[in-house]
Amino acid sequence: MNAQIERRDVLIAGAGLVGLALAAALARNGMTVALFDRQAPPSSGDPALWDTRVYAISPGSAAFLQRIGAWQALSCERIAAIESMRIVGDQGATLNFSAYELGERALAWIVEERALRSALLPAIHVAGIELVTDAEFGSLAWSATEGTLTLVDGRRFTASLVVGADGLHSWVRQAAGIVAEPRSYGQQGVVANFDCELAHHGCARQWFRTDGGVLAWLPLPGRRMSIVWSAPDAQAHELLAMSHDAFTARVAEAGANALGALRMITPPAAFPLQSLRLPTSIAHRMALVGDAAHGVHPLAGQGVNLGFGDAQALASVLAERGPVGDAGAPILLERFARRRAEPVLAMHTVTDGLVRMFGPRMPWLKTLRNVGLSAVDRLPIVKRALAQSALR
Ligand SMILES: Cc1cc2nc3c(=O)[nH]c(=O)nc-3n(C[C@H](O)[C@H](O)[C@H](O)COP(=O)(O)OP(=O)(O)OC[C@H]3O[C@@H](n4cnc5c(N)ncnc54)[C@H](O)[C@@H]3O)c2cc1C
Repeated sequence: MNAQIERRDVLIAGAGLVGLALAAALARNGMTVALFDRQAPPSSGDPALWDTRVYAISPGSAAFLQRIGAWQALSCERIAAIESMRIVGDQGATLNFSAYELGERALAWIVEERALRSALLPAIHVAGIELVTDAEFGSLAWSATEGTLTLVDGRRFTASLVVGADGLHSWVRQAAGIVAEPRSYGQQGVVANFDCELAHHGCARQWFRTDGGVLAWLPLPGRRMSIVWSAPDAQAHELLAMSHDAFTARVAEAGANALGALRMITPPAAFPLQSLRLPTSIAHRMALVGDAAHGVHPLAGQGVNLGFGDAQALASVLAERGPVGDAGAPILLERFARRRAEPVLAMHTVTDGLVRMFGPRMPWLKTLRNVGLSAVDRLPIVKRALAQSALR
């Protein structure tokens, strides 16, 4: 057993998109960081294949990624701008957003997860951050001044602050004594990619369905699109059991054949959809970021954006700490928690509210919710306020 302790300013458990971005942001502020994950970073993969995991990255997140050197590392051939968005209610009411009307280049950018991870890795390497892969967490112990992470292989790391960026079922969260179980929405996010007969013109489409599901068609570069079908569990299983041809036909029909004939280019995969609300995202010398701190429904496409917001806030609180040299000082962690409380609560309220309002248990709301969509569509000030918070 290796008893030697390695010291850093910050330890980050979890090298998903949020952990990687936070590490790069902290290193740019001159902090020493060690980053741990059980997996090695995925290879950039065959460029002829399209990743089924795609994200709608808000302009605010894109600006953050640019500041840490990752956005510019993305190939522009793999990014699609959402220039407009059309939301259709379950009685046909519509709500439309246009980047042009809001004076923006794009409402969001669609980027594959693999491409985003590959773009973040050079930012980590340039900063000299140690990325420990195949890391199996053994224990976390806290003294008054630091946290010590011991890996199962015996390596020990210590820092003033330990950050849990290890996803919805965070081990760090549990080790810090914050007890919370993600709650299932009873839905799966079924994702797949398609070639389309007709051009999408940068338009993202979303249908709230009578069965409580939500189907999103997101533009990919060229005549391609990616779908996220948030389907009730039973329906998701039915969709996944279909032949590729039958599944493709079902997707085309569910989207009123808006892009003509479809051809599947990446087979479907499914992710359970879970909500996670925590009483707090901080503890003694510990902070949570990304899905470790909150789980939101993907209908607003904001989960990773919320995580990038956490990373940005934590990095800036630590950069502005002035005479407080200690990166894990309670005053700094409380400042971070205060900055994130409102945006996280707002996102939970909006997404859970929409899931409930369009859920199958409230069919009596059908007319009201559709009238609501159309009303918002006719109120430019309300529409602009809604769009501005998503853009940020
Ligand atoms: C279907 C679907 C579509 C979505 N679409 C969007 C979208 O369009 N826009 C958007 O903003 N968000 C979207 N989201 C949400 C988004 O996927 C998550 O919010 C985001 O991936 C969270 O990133 P993260 O880095 O916090 O966590 P994760 O991606 O879960 O990363 C956690 C990392 O920690 C590591 N780890 C975990 N436990 C351990 C352990 N015990 N030991 C070692 N390592 C560990 C894992 O290997 C992983 O690398 C979507 C989600 C779903 C399900």
